[in-house]
Amino acid sequence: MSELLLETRELTKAYGRQRAVDRVSVHIQKGAIYGLIGRNGAGKTTFLKMISGLAKPDSGALALFGYQGQELSKIRQRVGCLIGGPGLYPYLSAEDNLNLKCMFMGIHKKGYVAELLSMMGLYEARRKKAGKFSLGMKQRLGIALALVGQPDLLVLDEPINGLDPQGIAEVRETLIKLNEDHRITMIISSHILEELSKISTHYGIIDHGCLLQEISREELMKQCGERIEIAAEAPERMLPFLDSMGFHDYQMIDGEKLYIYERLEDAPLVNQMLVQHGIFVKSVSVTRGDLENYFIRMTGGGKQ
Ligand code: ATP
Repeated sequence: MSELLLETRELTKAYGRQRAVDRVSVHIQKGAIYGLIGRNGAGKTTFLKMISGLAKPDSGALALFGYQGQELSKIRQRVGCLIGGPGLYPYLSAEDNLNLKCMFMGIHKKGYVAELLSMMGLYEARRKKAGKFSLGMKQRLGIALALVGQPDLLVLDEPINGLDPQGIAEVRETLIKLNEDHRITMIISSHILEELSKISTHYGIIDHGCLLQEISREELMKQCGERIEIAAEAPERMLPFLDSMGFHDYQMIDGEKLYIYERLEDAPLVNQMLVQHGIFVKSVSVTRGDLENYFIRMTGGGKQ
């Protein structure tokens, strides 16, 4: 079984009479990119603040790396967060913004800031003032700041909000790289399921402060009908090749077709692989699921 890095039990916080977060229980595995999805005002920021130690829950419990209650203060530096904007000093260079954070955190390792800048693709721009950065670069610098101290968990509140497509792609690639190369677990909020779907391995859907569903990427893809469909003669012959390509989540349909519920972008590669191994492929197609529609259905859609 996978190890849980973060678990909440009925976490609750109210502002006045309104429960911004209402008995939310999430389960986040080590290595996951957990997309917290909900429309504006759903309670995402409040929830992220509580797990980052920036807001105090009214009730419920939180376990981080197996630590709970008072013990949480011991492991706070293992959590990096970007909540409510990147918090940059606009008149300082990217490098000096990072130097300052390192100083606050007592980190004096030589080459550390340069390494962070390179990781975020900002090394060339290190001497430029942060205020002169594009929005995408500012967000990446914000993520670099959150990474100071080498956290194991990154908490990012709407990191792609307001970015143009280029900026979104840059931030997305950066996050995937951090997760894959550095094994950093992440929780990322957004109100756009489509965007999160390109990176998240798991989702929590939140609405009016309540968690409606926790679902894995594969399960979500299935529920939305998203898949690669392959028709071939003797489809069972495809299975060893799919295994060798690292696919796990596929299904034979009526002995004629095969549905793959992951890595839709690899459909051409699958085709090439099968043909190369002498399998007669009749057709390969990709069916895109309607994620936004699914989200709207889950959250009651037009009623609100
Ligand atoms: P958004 O994407 O708009 O930030 P969100 O999903 O992050 O939305 P929250 O910011 O957590 O939602 O807000 C949840 C509810 O709590 C909202 O109704 C909001 O008005 C209310 N709220 C949040 N912070 C406060 C506060 N400091 N004082 C009073 N009400 C608050």
